[in-house]
Amino acid sequence: MSDKEKPKCPHCGERLLKWETPPDSSWGIVIKLVCFNDECSYYKRGWKWMEEKFQQKASYRYCINPESGKEQPLPVWSPSALKDRLVDG
Ligand SMILES: [Zn+2]
Repeated sequence: MSDKEKPKCPHCGERLLKWETPPDSSWGIVIKLVCFNDECSYYKRGWKWMEEKFQQKASYRYCINPESGKEQPLPVWSPSALKDRLVDG
């Protein structure tokens, strides 16, 4: 996959990064494409939304299934959450 073909986040224009799901996730271990930009409008809106609706300190990062291209918002509880599972390349 060349750089040009790599999908970008529709909310902030950043390139989506390969991210491996934790072994205990409901998906099993699979690769997702995730926007890890902390300035992403989707992610920034998520904090506000979760606080207003559920009184929770949490948000979502834009995430797609690379096979289907389907959106699957990825819940996060802190800005650094889940970044340890980023895959190189
Ligand atoms: Zn984004």
